[in-house]
Amino acid sequence: MSMNVIELRDVTKRYPGTPPVEVLTSVDLRIRAGELVGIVGPSGSGKSTLLHLMGTLDRPSSGQVCIAGQDVATLGDRALSALRAKTIGFVFQQFFLLDGMTAVENVAQGLLYHGVAAAERRRRASAALERVGLGHRLSHRPAQLSGGERQRVAIARAVISRPAVILADEPTGNLDSRASDEVFSILAELNGDGTTVVVVTHDRERAAGLPRLVEMLDGRVLAGSAA
Ligand code: ADP
Ligand code: MG
Repeated sequence: MSMNVIELRDVTKRYPGTPPVEVLTSVDLRIRAGELVGIVGPSGSGKSTLLHLMGTLDRPSSGQVCIAGQDVATLGDRALSALRAKTIGFVFQQFFLLDGMTAVENVAQGLLYHGVAAAERRRRASAALERVGLGHRLSHRPAQLSGGERQRVAIARAVISRPAVILADEPTGNLDSRASDEVFSILAELNGDGTTVVVVTHDRERAAGLPRLVEMLDGRVLAGSAA
């Protein structure tokens, strides 16, 4: 029996306003170490909000979020940042690479707050880029890379600190079919190495190939909340 790396209990998220907007309602969700989980649902159904809560980028309005066994509510902002840096790697649809930096420099950013010396950061960044098939693009800047290559750089940056969990929000939303295949196969490989992967996707076809799917509608989890 493996442990839950992510556990949400009766989680609700509201944004203030008149009336307040409830974007997540009574969400219960457990993700065990080593799972590869897809999250699907229409636009506006709360997928990104859910991923932000899982990634501790945001806190719930009510309910409990536990990451690696720690109740997020018991942690102050610094402790939460530290837990996040150690445990979670993020991948976003828009890549969020720094334009003025090479691929190696972008990936090395993923180790900035991990107490690793600069030369070692570069060495590990090169190795991470090789793992995602970009050993020949080390000194390219984002503008010199295709969309698929940029996303692979972003994935390398996310995994360089060896997080237990990768959270990816529509990572193939800006990519063509071939690049999307590459991204999904890299995510599957990382999962094969033991990383827990949660991927929000609009891509029903590729999602259907994942071992577990969580379906969302109007801020609720419809199916797949328990593996
Ligand atoms: P999805 O990723 O499934 O498209 P989101 O989680 O981004 O959905 O958004 C869910 C709902 O929450 C949407 O209706 C969105 O407009 C609303 N929402 C998101 N962020 C905020 C915010 N900061 N304030 C108010 N409403 C928000
Ligand atoms: Mg979204």
